[in-house]
Amino acid sequence: MQQLDLFYEGKAKKIYHTDDPDLIIIHFKDDASAFNGIKKAKIKGKGIINNEITTIIFQDLAKEGIESHFVKGLNERDMLAKKLDIIPLEIVVRNVISGSMSKRLNIKEGTTIPNTIYELCLKNDKLGDPLLNRHHAVALGLTTYEDLDEMFAQTVKINNALKKLFANINITLVDFKIEFGKTKDGKIILADEISPDSCRLWDSTTKEILDKDRFRRDLGDVIQAYQQVLERLKNRK
Ligand code: UDP
Repeated sequence: MQQLDLFYEGKAKKIYHTDDPDLIIIHFKDDASAFNGIKKAKIKGKGIINNEITTIIFQDLAKEGIESHFVKGLNERDMLAKKLDIIPLEIVVRNVISGSMSKRLNIKEGTTIPNTIYELCLKNDKLGDPLLNRHHAVALGLTTYEDLDEMFAQTVKINNALKKLFANINITLVDFKIEFGKTKDGKIILADEISPDSCRLWDSTTKEILDKDRFRRDLGDVIQAYQQVLERLKNRK
């Protein structure tokens, strides 16, 4: 398997074609960005840690019967994945109130809720990934009601599996963002990454923030927090 041309460069990852048209290489960079790209920095070693965390999580999800685009690790920054047509939507899952929901509705961060909240956002940096609902998504031709049902059914399973995984290492999964893509034969599969860049993770005892909010809010020790999440995942029982 050979790496070919770069065909997409995002804020934190580069994607390369390979000589197999069904496979891509995902390269995890050290770049961090927040507030829709306004705040940027390089966090040395972040790409390596996020590649490893994403790998552990996708492997754990596979054990729970949830497929993702992950095929195998190639080296410390590169993973081999299935080539998908990415559906330009982000699904945000909230188990505890934080971030944009806290601001938008003026609800104190850390407020617990009786049910899980599922949000849909348009994947569009120029527009700031605006919130939309399923009817908007279908009307805009981005997806179908059937595919949305499938994505949300998988999202419920993913949240349950991730909550269990993190609870096991004394971390509260506050919220996270996931993306899906479609294979050539129309199967919907979990894509992108799941890491402290895309999740809010709080130590369940101390409430210490172990995710990208350390960068967004200038809390310091960003890499140490990511490393701690990785170490706990590696040492889980
Ligand atoms: N998130 C993400 N990418 C985005 C937007 C959000 O990975 O483009 C993640 C974010 O890290 C958090 C969750 O989705 O874990 C919910 O984010 P929120 O809507 O609160 O927005 P934020 O305040 O992080 O911009």
